[in-house]
Amino acid sequence: MTYYYEEMRRLLFDHYDLHRRDLPWRSDRNAYKTWVSEVMLQQTRVHTVIPYFCRFIQQFPTISALAHASEDNVLKAWEGLGYYSRATNLQNGARYIVSEHQGIFPFRKEDILKIPGVGPYIAAAILSMAFGKPEPSIDGNLIRVISRLHALSGLSSSSKTQKQIAVIASKMISEKRPGDFNEAVMDLGATICTPKSPSCETCPLESLCIAAHEGCPELYPGNKKTASLQRYAFTICPILYGNTVYVKKRAASGLLAGLYEFLMIPGHYDKEDLITSIKPEFVLNDASILSIEALPDSEHRFSHLIWDMKGYLIRLVYDNDLGPKPLSEKNTKGLFVPAEEMKSLPFPTAIRVYRDAVLASARDLF
Ligand code: SF4
Repeated sequence: MTYYYEEMRRLLFDHYDLHRRDLPWRSDRNAYKTWVSEVMLQQTRVHTVIPYFCRFIQQFPTISALAHASEDNVLKAWEGLGYYSRATNLQNGARYIVSEHQGIFPFRKEDILKIPGVGPYIAAAILSMAFGKPEPSIDGNLIRVISRLHALSGLSSSSKTQKQIAVIASKMISEKRPGDFNEAVMDLGATICTPKSPSCETCPLESLCIAAHEGCPELYPGNKKTASLQRYAFTICPILYGNTVYVKKRAASGLLAGLYEFLMIPGHYDKEDLITSIKPEFVLNDASILSIEALPDSEHRFSHLIWDMKGYLIRLVYDNDLGPKPLSEKNTKGLFVPAEEMKSLPFPTAIRVYRDAVLASARDLF
């Protein structure tokens, strides 16, 4: 598992170092600027915040300047940003720091949490970004990214899920670059792993992501909407070579963890465009398609979603006498097993109709 987290951080930082968003609070970072930016970013989009942040810091460059400003001036600087209690809380916090810490931002977690209006999320952001402490900032972005990486379908609002996420996040965060880690996850959640349409194909973590592998990342984390059944289309492709069939084991956690499946391609394909539409990672090494036979359509209802499936039985012939090599596939490895042996492997009920079709077909051949 240690290797997994190291690899995950490496991929995340490689991407972040190239694509990080250039935001004013990221240059010349300190606790005060981090605090102001995080308060402004609550309930408000980054692009809206940028000009307000720049003007606010220019007008109130220090904690002391904010503490001693008139409330009217602070609210005027906040005008148009909404949720005005944030401005009042920020100024109360500045006054507290002046009175209790001589205007110097405290660096201990317990002291930061005593500042009026500062909760665990902002405290973690300040500790990691300004003081280099490995404290994960657990917000919607982090919850979404971790839920998808590990295929955790619990409701994001449930305390059980949040505890689970906190444990994973504490293992994920970088000791060396904790602030960058939190910023990188925020960037990922805001620009790539978005709630409704994640761009897994451009995501640096795709190779480690169980939800992306399953083909329905929008399903995670669970929420009230996804509790009403959503439909997911798949094309199931049992691939036969002689009396062997290509199978692969599903990921160790998430939906149907550890069970076996055939090649499953998200979306529905017609027989004609099936092969050309298969993603480049599904390369048929040294093999040609002998035949493609349509199998019955099938549907399977889980408690929280529906698989809507088309199926094709694909027979291969090899261009040499060496027999099948495993298909080259990006994320997971499969293997060819004798069709009879497949009977002893655990397959989900959802695709048993296809497993039975394979068994019948293999019997016909031999
Ligand atoms: Fe999110 Fe997709 Fe990246 Fe997984 S691969 S973390 S679902 S964008």
